[in-house]
Amino acid sequence: MEEKYKGFAIGIDLGTTYSCVGVWQEQNDRVEIIHNDQGNKTTPSCVAFTNSQRLIGDAAKNQAASNPTNTIYDAKRLIGRKYSDSIVQKDIKLWPFKVTAGANDKPTIVVNYKGKEKHFLAEEISSVILTQMREIAEAFLESPVKNAVITVPAYFNDSQRRATKDAGEIAGLNVMRIINEPTAAALAYGLQKRANCVDKRNIFIFDLGGGTFDVSILTVKNNDYEVKATAGDTHLGGEDFDNRMVNHFVSEFKRKHKEEIIGNPKAIRRLRTACERAKRTLSYDTEATIDLDSIHQGIDFYSSITRAKFEQMNMNLFEKCMDTVNSCLADAKMDRGSVDDVVLVGGSSRIPKVRQLLQEFFQGKELCKSINPDEAVAYGAAIQAALVSEGIKSVPNLILRDVTPLSLGVELQGNLMSVVIPRNTSIPVKKTKSYHTVYDNQSYVTIKVYEGERTRASDNNLLGLFDFSVPPAPRCSIPIKECFSIDSDGILNVSAEEETNASKKAITITNENGRLSREEIEKMILQAEIFKAQDMEFKKKVKAINALDDYLYKVRKVMEDNCVSSKLTTVDKEKINSAMIKGKSLIDNNQQEDAFVFVDFLKELESIFESSMNKIKKGK
Ligand code: AMP
Repeated sequence: MEEKYKGFAIGIDLGTTYSCVGVWQEQNDRVEIIHNDQGNKTTPSCVAFTNSQRLIGDAAKNQAASNPTNTIYDAKRLIGRKYSDSIVQKDIKLWPFKVTAGANDKPTIVVNYKGKEKHFLAEEISSVILTQMREIAEAFLESPVKNAVITVPAYFNDSQRRATKDAGEIAGLNVMRIINEPTAAALAYGLQKRANCVDKRNIFIFDLGGGTFDVSILTVKNNDYEVKATAGDTHLGGEDFDNRMVNHFVSEFKRKHKEEIIGNPKAIRRLRTACERAKRTLSYDTEATIDLDSIHQGIDFYSSITRAKFEQMNMNLFEKCMDTVNSCLADAKMDRGSVDDVVLVGGSSRIPKVRQLLQEFFQGKELCKSINPDEAVAYGAAIQAALVSEGIKSVPNLILRDVTPLSLGVELQGNLMSVVIPRNTSIPVKKTKSYHTVYDNQSYVTIKVYEGERTRASDNNLLGLFDFSVPPAPRCSIPIKECFSIDSDGILNVSAEEETNASKKAITITNENGRLSREEIEKMILQAEIFKAQDMEFKKKVKAINALDDYLYKVRKVMEDNCVSSKLTTVDKEKINSAMIKGKSLIDNNQQEDAFVFVDFLKELESIFESSMNKIKKGK
């Protein structure tokens, strides 16, 4: 029996560029995608630090151009990766914020917050976004929320999945399940389109987002969703198309104005925002303009780009997407004609060239555009959250069977990869394989666990390395059983067992490689609470300043009215005027003060003003 969780449970699509949250609504029998305080159903996955406060989502994105070095985005491109990873090194060159190597080769983001240098891991930045998504849901549900299903790209590896789970924990969430984004989208499609009919349907999910690309093929029959194969690229999406356009305009600027803007983070941030906007325009228009006043050294930059040029500069990336589609079908042992529905998910699936190539690939088949590509993943995550929650009766009893995206195995002598669980195996799964010692009187065996598809083990991703002691004996005489199990979150556990006539020994191995320790997580939870308290204090202060400002405005208006002010005694007039001067100066120099200073002063001002007004009233 599957474990069921008590209380509200939400589904979160933690995206590279935007995140989205949904909840199953028992009274309406459907998922509600929840809008944030700005009225938007997607929230930028962006966190900014300033001299006075921390900003999240739209507020962070909106000030990015003026504070580029302290505005952090793309945490999903860092999570679970090492600093030395060539992909990370390439990204660092494009980001205006600083990333350095931390302990265990973990990338560390460096910002300036309230005048001090602060360091964050990608898990912490993601946890801030997850907290924001939880708060959006709490405001809507008017109740605290603890449980969540979080989605990850199907092609995320073991470290990326674990790190995402850690981010959830730092956000104070109970992560009930990690599910794959295309699978979540398939659930949404199935439920909205009622594809879960009696006839078997093969559904192809094409999910091209801001930073990642995933495809999955599922067979759906009678509420049973079985993933047949998945493929993708955890570093391909809308931002790569933006980057190509940014590079194009950087070169054009250099050519036209003989100036290099690459070293000017503010200019690059403004250019990137303009490029993203132009890219969106090119999805419905054949030409888009770039219009940036005084972008660098006082120079205005006006230019334009055609859809054809945009397509040409990204063609090899679009073709890469189609190669992935092809290999996914091959893995599922299906031909393109047997696909019933091709479903578009992710903001970048709106690009007309991508749609055209995909339609051509599927021999002119009409693509399903009916589900909202920005919301489908959160929608599916919310369905999954309802399925594992206690007491929700209205959600259809769907069965979800996903697969593992990468082969898992151990290194054999000679640097050979021995696969224990091949990629695209249904999860959860448990598989055992027996190995032998290779030397006479060998005292221990080093078990190196890898994930990947390459024949040479060292070309794959090393997940963990463990020593296992064995009793001395001739070579090949000690059998070691290695058991690999993957849970429904796609997370691996390995155990080894040696059984001779004399002894039986077993160890369980968890991949802690590059993972946060319990103490580190506890420390980050505490840190997150401190930041949250500071955010609350700042909000309180802004509210108090605004209340004082409003009251000062009201008093000023009354004092400007001769009928009233002429009735005041000189002493009272002076008292009010000097209180108003003090109030204005408090507001103008508000940096160092706490919220209570403004609250207390407002009370003082109210008392001075009202007692003077009362005297006038009594005098009448
Ligand atoms: P997602 O991760 O699914 O939220 O997708 C976000 C990505 O989709 C960003 O890179 C956006 O720039 C991109 N995007 C959103 N709308 C469009 C559009 N109309 N045309 C092209 N790209 C888009």
